Amino acid sequence: MVAVRRFVFGPVRSRRLGRSLGVNNVPYKTCSYSCVYCQLGRTTDLTVERRGFYDWREVAREVIEFVSRYGGEVDYVTFAPDGEPTLDANLGKIIEEVKREVNPRVAVLTNASLLWLSDVREDLALADLVSVKVDAVDEGTWRRVNRPHPELRLDRVLEGVLEFSKSYEGCWYPRRCSSAT
Ligand code: SF4
Repeated sequence: MVAVRRFVFGPVRSRRLGRSLGVNNVPYKTCSYSCVYCQLGRTTDLTVERRGFYDWREVAREVIEFVSRYGGEVDYVTFAPDGEPTLDANLGKIIEEVKREVNPRVAVLTNASLLWLSDVREDLALADLVSVKVDAVDEGTWRRVNRPHPELRLDRVLEGVLEFSKSYEGCWYPRRCSSAT
């Protein structure tokens, strides 16, 4: 019988990550940005509120099952959903559970907009690799390109990135990472 996968996809070939098993931990187009270039189209749930969208144990269980069976085919378990992964209030719990059970390398691809929140930084600290997207460092360009949630401020976002960079001990992409170049 073929198992129905709700939260994982792939593995897909990634230039940076090798064979990457994707994890879709937030609902479609739930994001703090609505980037002009987003391949998924306009954001339908523009939010900065962290929520538990799904039963985190279910998400973790799917990842654990896949890695247990096909671990040799996975270089990274990558949180790269159809929105912003750090909006998931259970991100840290999922990473911890997956690490505890099958211990894969874990990556998170984030738009960086919530790094000013200490709980987001704590969750991301559990990942082996964090890829941070910053498209612009001037307010006008940032607003035009990323079309952020109205409560976001670029200076806070950039401060969050800086704060995270001071404490994070994992691989920080696009900084050169020996395990993902
Ligand atoms: S941050 Fe990513 S998911 Fe969100 S709108 Fe931009 S490109 Fe799309």
